[in-house]
Formats: sequence, structure tokens, C-alpha cells
Amino acid sequence: MKKILLNKIVSIAPERVFLNEPMSKHTTFGIGGPASCFIYPEREHLRQILKIANDYSIPIFFMGGGSNLLVSDKGFDGIVVSFAKSLKKLVFRKSNTFSCESGVMLGHLVKEVGKRGIGGMEGLVGVPGTVGGALVMNAGAYGKEISNLLQSATVLTMTGDEKIYQRSDINFSYRYSTFPKNEILLEAEFKGEKVNQKDISSEKLEASERRKLSQPLKFRSAGSIFKNPSEMMAAGYLIDKSNLKGSISGNAEISEKHANFIINRGDAKASDVIKLINKAKSQVKKQFNIELKLEIKLLGFNEKTMNELVGNGIG
Ligand SMILES: Cc1cc2nc3c(=O)[nH]c(=O)nc-3n(C[C@H](O)[C@H](O)[C@H](O)COP(=O)(O)OP(=O)(O)OC[C@H]3O[C@@H](n4cnc5c(N)ncnc54)[C@H](O)[C@@H]3O)c2cc1C
Repeated sequence: MKKILLNKIVSIAPERVFLNEPMSKHTTFGIGGPASCFIYPEREHLRQILKIANDYSIPIFFMGGGSNLLVSDKGFDGIVVSFAKSLKKLVFRKSNTFSCESGVMLGHLVKEVGKRGIGGMEGLVGVPGTVGGALVMNAGAYGKEISNLLQSATVLTMTGDEKIYQRSDINFSYRYSTFPKNEILLEAEFKGEKVNQKDISSEKLEASERRKLSQPLKFRSAGSIFKNPSEMMAAGYLIDKSNLKGSISGNAEISEKHANFIINRGDAKASDVIKLINKAKSQVKKQFNIELKLEIKLLGFNEKTMNELVGNGIG
């Protein structure tokens, strides 16, 4: 990016803009080269940032906690807007409704919702990241998906206009939503059902225990790499049956504990992770004739890699 444009962005909120910022600092994988410009904006900065990106055709990427993201080793020549440190308002109302800005951490929301005896989010305990990321990904676990409680969502378009989507305007399916990629999810309205607090606590406990037993939580990762091909067929099972558990490339490894997790054992590179992704895809295709599809989003990769890996993410 040109210095003059970088300076324009810095002038919007000097203390919130970081130039040449390693994305490894902002992803749970701990992987990723530099973003030309990384920003933690407040809501009032967003329109100015979008205007500059729009006026000068600068690539822009919106992110939450970076817990479902693999960023390339060469990084991203554009603006990364992170909501990990802003948009934190959460307001509960009568009749089990609440509004939540997209930078609220999902774990915090699950805790606050549970405290009020509102059910529907118990299975999401332990899912990292923000509410914005969870909605875009339609995060879910153990039978609960965040979209089940959604009523409406407010977004900011690239032209700086606010728009409200009703639940029925957006299609949600397993780890998928139709929120447009070029819109910022600002906040959402939810409605849950009152349930017995004891049931919430025991479901949360059970979900946490299952997670601890099945996932390699001591290592950095981005959670499940691939979507399950069907409800009856787990990607981890197929990778395991292809004898790939423990496969290594550099410091990246297909987890021995959960074959759908690739873990960073130290200073793994994105290229190492991509090699393991390709290995898992090709072995599972060969052995089961099943095409694994990525769950994680990619940023900063060249067109060839993006095309090979199903045109997932931007870059
Ligand atoms: C150990 C571990 C366990 C996990 N377990 C689960 C699980 O059980 N179930 C599950 O569903 N997921 C799981 N995940 C994956 C991940 O935590 C979820 O997908 C999470 O909801 C992503 O949230 P995030 O804020 O980190 O999003 P990011 O990774 O930052 O972004 C994800 C996507 O959302 C978009 N996005 C984020 N915020 C905004 C916004 N405000 N406006 C517009 N677009 C936005 C990004 O552009 C990107 O496309 C796990 C991850 C880890 C590391």
C-alpha cells in the first residue's frame, strides 16, 4: 500500500492503527505474515476507513478473534479491521431478548446468557472468537448453533450505510451464512427461551468436558480445518482412517488427538499448514472418494492456492 494512503488511515485513529503488523499476533493459529495496515477501530471510525478503502480500491478484510483464520506467510497487502477490542456492548431486555455488538467475545455472551436462565447457547461454551465471527461462521457445537437465537442483524455497507437484516433474510446452514463478505456486521438482536438454570449449567459442563477430552487445546490451532461432509461422516474420522494423524510438515502437525485439527507446535508456517491440508484432501479423496471442504477462512493467498482450496475467504 502507498505511504500516503497509510498516513491517511493512521490519521483517523493514530493509537489504533498498526502498520506492517504480523497477523501471527492476531490469529489463534499464531501464524501469518504482516498486514500492511491493521486497525482496531471504534464504531465512529468505520465510515472513514471504508471511504478510503472504497475511494482508493484498497483490499479490506474484517475479522473478530481470528480463531477460524489462516493468513499466508507473506501477509495481506491491505487493511485488516479487527473487532477484537471494540463493539463490546451487550444489553439484556425483558422477555429473554438481548442485543449484542459484534466485538463481544462469544464466551462472555454464553456466560451472561446462561446466568439469566436463557437457553440455546450452552454447547457454544469454549468456542473462541467474537459474536460477529460466530454469526458469519454460524458457529455451533453439540447441537446448538448461534443462528437459532438470532432475530436480526445490523451491518455497515462499503458505502457507509447501515442496513438491518431480519433472520429470514440470511440463509444459515452448517458453518455457513450468507452475510455478504463486504459488509461489517455491527450488532445483532437475539431471543432465547427461559430454561432451568441447572440444565444450562450441566449442559455447559458436559460440553466443556467433551471438548477437553476430544480437542488438542494445549496447542495453537484454528479449530476444525474441514467441514464434516455430512452429519454421519466426520472429517476427522476420514483423516484418521487415512492414517494421517501425527503427519508433520515443518512445525505443523495433524493432531494425534483430533485428526481434523492442525496444530502449531511452535513456529509453524502457513505453507506447512497448506501442505497438510492438501495431503488430507488428496488422501481422503483417494481412499473414500470424498472431497473435503475447508471450514477455516483464508487470507492473503494467491489465486492459485485459493482456487485449489475451494475459493474460500479472500486474498
Ligand atoms: C480451539 C478451537 C475450537 C473451536 N471450536 C469450534 C466449535 O466447536 N464450533 C465452531 O463453530 N467453531 C469452532 N472454532 C472456530 C472458531 O472459533 C469459530 O468459527 C468462531 O466463531 C470464529 O469467530 P472469530 O471472531 O474468531 O472470527 P474470525 O476467525 O476472526 O473470522 C471468521 C469469519 O468471520 C468474518 N467476520 C468476523 N467478524 C466480522 C464482522 N464483525 N463483520 C463481518 N465479518 C466478520 C471474517 O471475515 C471471517 O470470514 C474453534 C476454534 C478453535 C481455535
